[in-house]
Amino acid sequence: MLQKAKKILKTVFGYDSFRPLQNDIIENILNKKDSLVIMPTGGGKSLCYQIPAIVFKGLTVVISPLISLMKDQAEQLRQLGVETAILNSSISASVYRDNYNAVKTGKAKLLYIAPESIFKDEIQELLISSKLECITIDEAHCISEWGHDFRKEYRMLGQLQDKFPTAVFVALTATATPKVQDDIVINLKLRNASRFLASFDRENLFLQVIPKQKAQQQALEFLKAHKDQSGIIYCTTRKQVDELYESLSALKYSCLPYHAGLPDEERHSNQERFIRDEIQIIIATVAFGMGINKSNIRYVLHYDLPKSIESYYQEIGRAGRDGLRADCLLLFGYGDSMKIQYFIEQKTTQQERLNAQIHLDEIIKFAQFGGCRRVPIINYFGEKYHTDNCGMCDNCVDDAATLVDITIPTQKILSAVKRTGERFGLTYIIDVLTGSESQRILSNRHHTLSVYGIEKSFTKKQLQYLCFDLIAKGFLEKDEEFGGLRLTSKSNEVLYSNLKVMGKIQEPEISTKKGKLLDTNYNKELFELLRAKRKQVADRLDVPPFVIFSDKTLQQMAVYFPRTDAEMADISGVGTAKLKSYSSSFLPVINKFLNTNKTVSPPAVSVSPAIPKTVKTAQKLRYIEVGEEVNNGATVDDLVLKYGIKPETVIAYIYKYAIEGNELQTNSLESNLTVEAELLAKVFEEFKKDDYLFLKPLYDKFEGKISYEQLRIIRILSIVKYGTKS
Ligand code: ADP
Ligand code: MG
Ligand code: ZN
Repeated sequence: MLQKAKKILKTVFGYDSFRPLQNDIIENILNKKDSLVIMPTGGGKSLCYQIPAIVFKGLTVVISPLISLMKDQAEQLRQLGVETAILNSSISASVYRDNYNAVKTGKAKLLYIAPESIFKDEIQELLISSKLECITIDEAHCISEWGHDFRKEYRMLGQLQDKFPTAVFVALTATATPKVQDDIVINLKLRNASRFLASFDRENLFLQVIPKQKAQQQALEFLKAHKDQSGIIYCTTRKQVDELYESLSALKYSCLPYHAGLPDEERHSNQERFIRDEIQIIIATVAFGMGINKSNIRYVLHYDLPKSIESYYQEIGRAGRDGLRADCLLLFGYGDSMKIQYFIEQKTTQQERLNAQIHLDEIIKFAQFGGCRRVPIINYFGEKYHTDNCGMCDNCVDDAATLVDITIPTQKILSAVKRTGERFGLTYIIDVLTGSESQRILSNRHHTLSVYGIEKSFTKKQLQYLCFDLIAKGFLEKDEEFGGLRLTSKSNEVLYSNLKVMGKIQEPEISTKKGKLLDTNYNKELFELLRAKRKQVADRLDVPPFVIFSDKTLQQMAVYFPRTDAEMADISGVGTAKLKSYSSSFLPVINKFLNTNKTVSPPAVSVSPAIPKTVKTAQKLRYIEVGEEVNNGATVDDLVLKYGIKPETVIAYIYKYAIEGNELQTNSLESNLTVEAELLAKVFEEFKKDDYLFLKPLYDKFEGKISYEQLRIIRILSIVKYGTKS
């Protein structure tokens, strides 16, 4: 049966392989065993019940909390050629009747329905008369009061088990807390349910946090790098949403607001226009997002601090569902936490306040964290995170991100603030520290202070950045009204208890062109033509563009330039039904493009994970220096000494150097191998088959007998020997 599932994956969905756990889950459901599926947003939960639904002879009922969500999902399935019915209040009487009959006659494989409708007499009769094989509860966390979207109607669903004991039950959610999971199992009365917990790492999301300075300017810079792309900007308050919307629309950005204060109709229409690619940017409070299936959201910008790690992850999780790179930027201002603090204090019970406080502290810690951003997140979801350089977060890719001891300059800045009476703004403080002879300083007699002119090693710009960083870290506080800097309770620990402060001295750039998964290798011009065609087709059918083809599928077309039906069928995301419906619309676009651009040829490399060529050129990057040193015979130990960095970092640099296709002399590296020859040969065999961008599977395969460090070295040697596969 699993064979059949695999075949459906290709012919119906057009995908070549299952994502982790999908096949296990499908097998379990096909064996009629209740299943609880926990996967992050965008992880690919739908396929887990949709494929069994196609395999089963009878009906699969899908309960889903939102009408918009149901509509999109049903539409996506119809586009794939799967008979799908939907019964709710949003459809006209005649469509309702058609859908009803499709279920009644056994034509429909899936029925999407709202939780409150399922107990209606008419529906119950319909279900009893159908051969009901599977009941799926999507967004199953809605059943739990511990979750964030509790729905009363979901509580009733426990009765289904008694009414339809022969159907297999499948519950799906992206909520990871064990308490919620237990609630789901108990309330739905799942029988011996297997729990499938997928990794919460979303490898295609680039994570970055920068200190919030001039937020709007920073936002504009970020948006500039995402021209013509879909994205979400999250703000904490409605007021902030409205203000930012005013500014951005005045600058002619294609954007609309979304928050609970807007009339229902307007809110709904704004969401719909975003989903249909009619506007690019939605500026929203957290009210936006639940049930957004749009797969081509390329970025999420947090203009303010989210209230917890869980909300942050859920919000950024809406980006990059198609698996392509998406950029997530958080502007972190310590002052923003005060806003959240205010909300916390409004909460009624002590317990609620306490919980919210813990969440806030965690997200602040995350924002200030100097290591790989994935570590605190993935740990939060109860997983261990293994890779020591994820290649997809600011701290892992940025040379400037290296943390250094900034205790001394911090002490100087804090003393200057204190000595001048905690009244002056940032520029003034920096002027004092650098010994400016401005009239204001002289007339305040601040040139007589001991801190006057004591800062010699940093530029004004660096000092400015340091101050922002200290504000973000809570060592300084800015008067909202007058801009004066004040000390905080944390400042004393630095001034009097010698608390060590770590930070960056160089202002981080907004990274949209760093890390893995850069989208440079497809033909941009053709992609735009295909996108325009997709919009045209979608409008004609009155459906959102992403249900026709995902961005990823269009990009693949702009890489491989399929000219015939057969070639088109090889593109990921093109199944039999879509081939039939759309090849006649899309193939002419490609053929015409090739005829008018006779010189273009498909790019040599594929769009799959590739580490980019360096972006910075002016100053030689550290890893290039390291690579060149290795070529001149330097050993890992030499480089550890020379640069004062850890051996892991040296090896990571060499890896980066090699994977970019630079020639590498491996003699000195080979001397670091400790794995015995026979085992070594086996590892090489593995690398011949796969690049192992992530080493964990390999580590497990050899049962931990080979250390990660050794695996990393062998991986570099394999790249040199066999090249990369992707
Ligand atoms: P979730 O419900 O877990 O948030 P979805 O089921 O909406 O996620 O899936 C997210 C995206 O991933 C969809 O565009 C889907 O088509 C795609 N997808 C799912 N499984 C695969 C797969 N095996 N190969 C390629 N793409 C997949
Ligand atoms: Mg889903
Ligand atoms: Zn990282």
